[in-house]
Amino acid sequence: MAGQPILKLYNTLTREKAAFAPIDPTNVRMYVCGPTVYDYAHIGNARPAIVFDVLFRLLRHVYGENHVTYARNITDVDDKINARALRDHPGLALNEAIRLVTEKTETQYLEDAKALGCLDPTVQPRATENIAGMIEIIERLIAKGHAYQAEGEVLFDTRSMADYGRLSNRNLEDQQAGARVAVDAHKRNPGDFVLWKLSSESEPGWDSPWGRGRPGWHIECSAMSQRYLGEVFDIHGGGLDLIFPHHENEIAQSRCAHGTDVMANVWMHNGFLQVEGRKMSKSEGNFVTIYELLHTEKFGGRKWPGEVLRLAMLMTHYREPIDFSIKRLEEAERLLAKWPLVKESGAAPDTTVISALADDLNTVAAVQALHALAQAANAEPALLATYAASAALLGVQPKETEIDEALASAVDALVAMRLEMLKAKNFAEADKIREDLAVKGVQLKDGKDAATGERVTTWEVKR
Ligand code: AMP
Ligand code: ZN
Repeated sequence: MAGQPILKLYNTLTREKAAFAPIDPTNVRMYVCGPTVYDYAHIGNARPAIVFDVLFRLLRHVYGENHVTYARNITDVDDKINARALRDHPGLALNEAIRLVTEKTETQYLEDAKALGCLDPTVQPRATENIAGMIEIIERLIAKGHAYQAEGEVLFDTRSMADYGRLSNRNLEDQQAGARVAVDAHKRNPGDFVLWKLSSESEPGWDSPWGRGRPGWHIECSAMSQRYLGEVFDIHGGGLDLIFPHHENEIAQSRCAHGTDVMANVWMHNGFLQVEGRKMSKSEGNFVTIYELLHTEKFGGRKWPGEVLRLAMLMTHYREPIDFSIKRLEEAERLLAKWPLVKESGAAPDTTVISALADDLNTVAAVQALHALAQAANAEPALLATYAASAALLGVQPKETEIDEALASAVDALVAMRLEMLKAKNFAEADKIREDLAVKGVQLKDGKDAATGERVTTWEVKR
């Protein structure tokens, strides 16, 4: 694209940063592994949602809004879901209980993502609506000698793939030598993984050539990415913990089924969000959910706006670990408070912000550039349009209704303060408030209350 910066991305597969060249610039395709919907997402899970949302926005900016396809799946079949359904709805038939758990969790995830300023991905396929595609891939893998049946399971034969382990840099010998757990007797190799497993009568299941059963986790993403993005696509993303085994096994399945050299050209992984040096996770018990941060006072004794959470995340480069703390959220909030409230403008974003993002999503530099621009725009309203477009690229632009609410309460407070100043005959301060508001496009009109004769001030936003 003429005049656009060269986009450079770090690729886990090659372990270097390289210029990004899409397979088809009229349809740039990105897949990101989405949530398993058994429980509310924690703020660590928000990191890939936010990081890849920024990449989605940048790709749309560079290649055009309608030239990017972003797929993020919903994993709605998983033994953790079954366990949760039995626990929460013991009186219901399992299928019904599962539906309640997955629907509620999925709805909450979408609400959380929206509150964090994430655009909806182009497609959000559910695993349970793609079982036929999974069965097809497994059939191909068996036909090509990459998979076998054993004891009620269909397993991928890791030794059948010459370069299995390339993404995570492991070879089979390492894995075998390092395998401390006893090898499952039915597996040909210790690293072989489940593609399909039979279900008992009480477990959820789908008919297949191997009997009524359910898919393994990895095969879901191979099927959904193929359906929506093709056998080979541009970018695949997720958190660092997914490199092995999940992404390694997605690659094995897809490449062996389709006979391709790669599944995706670029593999991107975000670092962990940590608490006191440890990865935030359900199993560690050190987590706080996005819902709790937004809507309760569990963390730091107060609620945190989605925008603050998002900015706090973007103040660290996506490949670095983040230590999640109240201090960090307060820092983000202080920064946001200095930025003007403006609506999206349709202007071109600032080139410094774009170049920073184009350099492997350097959101740290982009936030710094945006802050400088915000300060300049506070002094020079002509810059507000560029500022608004740049903020939108990072997704830290408040939504219109939020602007209206936040603006209204901030303006009301300043107007009241100005009336106090006028009463105290502190005209210099009163004028300063009027001027500050004018910079934000707010015009004041003084009048008298007809009944009391007291001074009243009304205001309107001029854009
Ligand atoms: P899960 O529900 O564990 O499959 O995680 C969903 C997504 O969140 C995956 O991309 C994970 O890699 C990512 N993730 C989970 N925990 C963290 C964390 N503490 N920091 C950053 N990303 C995480
Ligand atoms: Zn996946």
